[in-house]
Amino acid sequence: MNMYIVECNDEIIIMDAGILFADDDVHGVSYIIPDFTYLKQNQKKIVGLFITHGHEDHIGAIPFLLKQVEIPTIYASGIAIGIIKNKMLEFSNINYNLKEYTENSIYKYKNFEVSFFRTNHSIPDSFGIAIKTRLGYIVNTGDFKFDFMPIGEKSNYYKMTSLGKEGVLCLMADSTNADISQFSSSEKKVGITLMNLFSQIEGRIIVAAFASNVYRVQQIIEASIASGRKVVVFGHSMEKTIEIASKLKYITYPKGWVLNSRELKKQNTDFVTILCTGSQGEPMAALSRIANGTHKQIKLLPNDTVIYSSKAIPGNELFINRNINKLVHAGAHVIQNSPLTDTHTTGHASQNEIRMMLSFMQPKYFMPVHGEYLMLKEHAKIASETGVKKENCFVLDTGDVLAFNDKGAKVFKKKIPASEVYIDASLSDVDSNILKERKHMADEGLLAITFTITKHKRLIGSVVVKSSGFADFESSKSLENSIRQKTLDLFTNGLKEHKNINIKALEKQIIVGLNQFIYQKIERRPLIVPIINVINN
Ligand SMILES: [Zn+2]
Ligand SMILES: [Zn+2]
Repeated sequence: MNMYIVECNDEIIIMDAGILFADDDVHGVSYIIPDFTYLKQNQKKIVGLFITHGHEDHIGAIPFLLKQVEIPTIYASGIAIGIIKNKMLEFSNINYNLKEYTENSIYKYKNFEVSFFRTNHSIPDSFGIAIKTRLGYIVNTGDFKFDFMPIGEKSNYYKMTSLGKEGVLCLMADSTNADISQFSSSEKKVGITLMNLFSQIEGRIIVAAFASNVYRVQQIIEASIASGRKVVVFGHSMEKTIEIASKLKYITYPKGWVLNSRELKKQNTDFVTILCTGSQGEPMAALSRIANGTHKQIKLLPNDTVIYSSKAIPGNELFINRNINKLVHAGAHVIQNSPLTDTHTTGHASQNEIRMMLSFMQPKYFMPVHGEYLMLKEHAKIASETGVKKENCFVLDTGDVLAFNDKGAKVFKKKIPASEVYIDASLSDVDSNILKERKHMADEGLLAITFTITKHKRLIGSVVVKSSGFADFESSKSLENSIRQKTLDLFTNGLKEHKNINIKALEKQIIVGLNQFIYQKIERRPLIVPIINVINN
């Protein structure tokens, strides 16, 4: 997730407020957002939030930020405005002030002047941000690549070189593909491949793509129309993208060629394109349900071709391969991106484009951003090869502060608070203890122990032992009995030691004692929940 702060005297500029989608091993957590503590403490200094582009890892945390911190104005451009507005509909009780910037906008403050330059990326209207300071420009490239045959507008090379000429103090640049040599291929090339494939394939085409990749969606629609196929759209995020982008004219098509999922039934032909989500093997996404045979409207046909117009985000390979296996097993032909078939290209700069950006900007200091640590390191290496002094390249951690003055630059010893904040499906933050419990329960199961005592701590009835995901007591009566007996022993011993022991302490003793007992017996550590009911007579 991305969020950067530039601070000088009594002014703070924020760049981006992104979200990270949580991995499956963070139980019940949907998103991870930045820690806003520092901004809360310095709220008065904030002059504005500037958004580079409309991807979730740059705008997703805006509602959560607004809940905690007052932001005088959010500045965004083009399609990002539409996406932010649409996102805020879910949070109708939050007020915000959203302003559109263009490439010619300049915002002046006491210590800063903010301007923008257009770049190419996998979504329209991606901009770099240039902040003029007393010491020179601080430039954040945002996510970028140099596409010499872009769909949509060209990068503003002139403005980038002009910034370099005026003097860039520090360049912060996208490191996503810093380990990939040469140039990233053009989006137009993908369009040509898709056109060819669509014209050669005879049956139905199911194509999975990233919903946020507006240019790709447009090209898939064009290839479909050229081959005489209507496009039927599946997946909430895909429908949303097409809705927003069509309204703003980023996606265009003749009326009647793009249909919603309900209209599939009405087509009396299988010669269509099904455009769907699920390129990452997400279990609930349309393509996964098609692969599993559990999709209500789409059953695979023997002549189907499935095209992945995407790449695997690291970590998702297993899920994707599982789906591909199922698709092939059901008789579909599957086409993935490969050197021979460009069904996808990245939206991020490879090494030669990175070198170009560094040559345009000629920064005094360099700070690689946006990428795994390995990529940041690689990017710093490229920067030093391109002419930035090695000691002027700073590979930083989240929360690090890089400070500049007339004499030079240094990283502060003290970080600002920057732990990850977890958000669950109800859109509220999740305590890290709760997360630990969820993980514990998922790994080891749950053991609940219930019994009733009088207020004089006399046991009434028997101890009830219940397991969920821990042990099958039906087939292991002896384990159940031994746990019950051990609980009784712990209860009696607890009372023997302190006659006036309170219920909380008693429960704790039972947890500790049972934990040891069960581990010695079967080497398991379930989450133990004792419930002691106290009745008055
Ligand atoms: Zn992006
Ligand atoms: Zn990004």
